[in-house]
Amino acid sequence: MVQSNPFVMAQQQLDECARIMNLDPGIHQVLRVPAREIHVSLPVRMDDGSIRVFQGFRVQYNDAKGPTKGGIRFHPEETIDTVRALAAWMTWKCAVMDLPLGGAKGGVICNPKEMSQGELERLSRAYIRAIYPLIGPDKDVPAPDVYTNPQIMAWMMDEYSKIAGKNQFGVITGKPLPVGGSKGRDKATAWGGMVAIQEAAGVLGLNLSKATVAVQGYGNAGYYAAFLLHTICGAKIVAISDSRGGIFDPKGINPDEALKCKNDTCSVVNLPGGQRISNEDLLELEVDILVPAALENVITEKNAPRIKAKIVAELANGPTTPEADQILYRNGVHVIPDFLCNAGGVTVSYFEMVQNFYMYYWEEEEVMKRLAKKMTTAYHTVLDTSKKYSIHMRQAAYVTAVQRVVEAMKLRGWV
Ligand code: GLU
Repeated sequence: MVQSNPFVMAQQQLDECARIMNLDPGIHQVLRVPAREIHVSLPVRMDDGSIRVFQGFRVQYNDAKGPTKGGIRFHPEETIDTVRALAAWMTWKCAVMDLPLGGAKGGVICNPKEMSQGELERLSRAYIRAIYPLIGPDKDVPAPDVYTNPQIMAWMMDEYSKIAGKNQFGVITGKPLPVGGSKGRDKATAWGGMVAIQEAAGVLGLNLSKATVAVQGYGNAGYYAAFLLHTICGAKIVAISDSRGGIFDPKGINPDEALKCKNDTCSVVNLPGGQRISNEDLLELEVDILVPAALENVITEKNAPRIKAKIVAELANGPTTPEADQILYRNGVHVIPDFLCNAGGVTVSYFEMVQNFYMYYWEEEEVMKRLAKKMTTAYHTVLDTSKKYSIHMRQAAYVTAVQRVVEAMKLRGWV
């Protein structure tokens, strides 16, 4: 199936944008493919003494606007095409937020849930040794993504610094606070998403303190989204899920109790009081706001006609296929597209880079204030573009981002 390949999907989205913009065919070709990619084999000594070789990738998609930026995923089903798609989306994400950065992504095929801390550390260090020549604070700056975390970022930064022979905190973002992390980075993705949802609710006349929310995925982004929408906006979280399934409770779920349940029992499905539901059923619930915060490809032409939410706030990357986009648009669902909705993470990563370069660190309030300002501006720029050209929000986000990247490429004399 075409859309099960995320890179084909990312290219389809770009093709549609090129058609809307009447983009020069040569420039369109440049933007359809990554500028550079590296495939690496990573030998790692396992705890039982054996050696295993893991496959890893780093894709640098486009650096017209600055050093490339993007997370590293550790996932058993990682593929080069997933990483390519995510690198493309990072390019558009940084551009739509008007950050002075290009886009990249990395991935390693592994299952961190089955690895010890020691094995994970050796794998993380091996990955950095393998991609060392391609990254750097002013070249390409990785960050956390699915199944990677601040500790892994600390090991990676340390490995890079050791090879460089000096501290290079700015080579990685999403680090723990004592080694150059930024305050607010942990909740940044969800915070940015919340600001976008608040703006969308304002436009649609939806009262968030009376709104119901379903969140698919309970990792960093999903948990904080539930937490912030509940505590700051007063919304009622009626359904959440993780890779093992979901739970629905119309009386409302306490996000912290759900997190404790996940930490204690490995899944939110064991939360008492609610009714078990599947990840698929969660998407089709009668809620005001649906937050896909897990993996790509979950809203397709098959289930899109049954989505009842007024707002779909995509905290995951690539959750909706192009065919599903058209259906949601026709049905009047307001989609806040992934590379806008989840851009809070990379925006605070950018702030982290700035703080690392400055050697001066901001208070959390300062970080969140700056993030909210950037997100509000980006949201309204995209909304205005969607109205101006009568296109849906994802197409509008693409047009905004691609225009900026093309402008930089032209000014640099690349095209
Ligand atoms: N992995 C996050 C994303 O997809 C953050 C990337 C970054 O901070 O560089 O946006």
